[in-house]
Amino acid sequence: MKLSAILASKGSNVVTIDPTASLRELLLELTRHNVGALVVSTDGNSISGIVSERDLVHAFASHPDPYSLAVSEIMTSEVFVAPLEAHVDELMQIMTDRRFRHVPVTDDAGSLLGIVSIGDIVKSRLGELESEREALMGYITHGG
Ligand code: AMP
Repeated sequence: MKLSAILASKGSNVVTIDPTASLRELLLELTRHNVGALVVSTDGNSISGIVSERDLVHAFASHPDPYSLAVSEIMTSEVFVAPLEAHVDELMQIMTDRRFRHVPVTDDAGSLLGIVSIGDIVKSRLGELESEREALMGYITHGG
């Protein structure tokens, strides 16, 4: 299965935040949208970075005054992105190896088309496994 199939069912909405936003704004946005990471962007389309709950935890654990920090100071700037044609299996492996749970999907120009989380991938894999199980049960019961 390709990422395009996941985006076709979950939609292309990506919550972004400006790099100059404060950590308080970041906390409010993560809570308001009930997500674990936001793409950092100045225009809602190009990618400056990504910031997740884990970055917030690190900031609060290590900085004496975390509320004085801006999102740009805690985000990851080198963002791993994938095209619509990327395969879910391939991405699952990369996310496991590199220990991140979010991958923005972009076009050739680097514009945002959506975001895929490890939760979306687990959901799509479970759907696939269920279809395979039903096909096998049909084959066993009716002989194909
Ligand atoms: P996550 O598991 O997505 O909460 O993120 C764990 C760490 O990886 C955090 O420091 C994130 O900023 C970073 N991160 C998350 N997604 C990506 C990505 N697609 N590319 C690079 N770093 C990422």
